[in-house]
Amino acid sequence: MLTFSAARELVISQALQHRSPRPALSLPISDALGHILDEEIRADREYPPFNRSTRDGFAVHSSEASAGAALHCIGEIKAGDTVHQPLSPGTCVQIMTGAALPPSADAVVMIEFTRRSGDSVTFERATQPGQNFVPAGSEAHAGDLALSPGLRLGFAELAAAAQVGRSELRCHPRPAVAILSTGDEVVPIVPTPGPFHIRNSNSVSLEAQVKLAGGAPSPLGNALDRVDDLSAKIELGLQADILVLSGGVSMGKYDLVESVLKGMGAEFYFDAVAIRPGKPAVFGRCRDTLIFGLPGNPVSTMVTFHLFVIPAIDILSGARPRPLPLLHATLSTPLKEKPGLTHFLPAQLTWPTSQPQVHALPWQGSGDITAMTQANCFLMVPADRPDIVAGETVSVLPRTDVL
Ligand code: AMP
Ligand code: MG
Repeated sequence: MLTFSAARELVISQALQHRSPRPALSLPISDALGHILDEEIRADREYPPFNRSTRDGFAVHSSEASAGAALHCIGEIKAGDTVHQPLSPGTCVQIMTGAALPPSADAVVMIEFTRRSGDSVTFERATQPGQNFVPAGSEAHAGDLALSPGLRLGFAELAAAAQVGRSELRCHPRPAVAILSTGDEVVPIVPTPGPFHIRNSNSVSLEAQVKLAGGAPSPLGNALDRVDDLSAKIELGLQADILVLSGGVSMGKYDLVESVLKGMGAEFYFDAVAIRPGKPAVFGRCRDTLIFGLPGNPVSTMVTFHLFVIPAIDILSGARPRPLPLLHATLSTPLKEKPGLTHFLPAQLTWPTSQPQVHALPWQGSGDITAMTQANCFLMVPADRPDIVAGETVSVLPRTDVL
């Protein structure tokens, strides 16, 4: 059976082969968060555009502002003021943070290290040339590359685009991700369910996970455990770039997802992974659509989406697949799990000191959504290290939606 990392590698290599160029979109900057940039963005001028003071104080010629020296203050410069006049010998000018230095000034002295008496300013410390301002062009020159194609647009990247005057950005479209739950027992969330029915929570968690990952979800509801209903709804899902199914991939008599997909021409790259929860996870392709058959137990669905679907969404979004953002933490309560499988246990990461600590939460197994709401991470128990004592360092996969 594949390890989870070998299974991820398979997803990545198949998704890379599968990536078909779709036309880029021009998006207003306010809608571009999380999209992948599909153009070069260059600096339109020098950054900063002028010698920018980083302190409130006095702009000086550094050679004239030695400890104990006094200069005549000729006025003030605020952020946004137009500044052309060079500083005359023997003078200084009061300057605010963000304002432009006069052309010949080569230092700013913080107001805290000066004494003022009328128009005379006395300096208490030695002044170094270059201190307390950012020279024009030191962050970027006009024409320099500010953002490269393939970059994910987070808040800093959007600020960089705004800084160089871009209000529209050419981006890759989000991949379309169809979501289909399966199960005769699965019913919509609104009407009161029958005593043996289960509300369709997986469609909701999957839709949220798709959005968080940067995909465009299209929920298709639920298919009954019947060949005709499954094939009709899978057929709809094959219009998307990725189809994510939940349930129907275990060994039960009514677990029909794999056989129905096979009948529709799907090929499979794996149909089990050595993990718990989530062992029966299936990955394949049918026509032009990548297919994930995730086990239906809600925590299994969540874990397997995190491990396997996110890299496919990354790649079809035009990005490089994000590595699993594993952190290290000290285990605070001992663990004993079944060997041979890598476990991903709902767990809580805390920072009682500078060293993070983690403990697995009590749970009733992979159907326990309630335990998941207490969890801000999954604690990874390696297949070959099923016994871990308190105090050892372990890896955890944070839930980046809540942490
Ligand atoms: P399955 O993978 O189809 O064998 O389902 C495993 C367990 O997950 C069963 O207890 C199902 O009732 C439950 N389950 C399956 N699909 C869903 C769903 N969409 N929402 C909530 N629970 C589900
Ligand atoms: Mg089922």
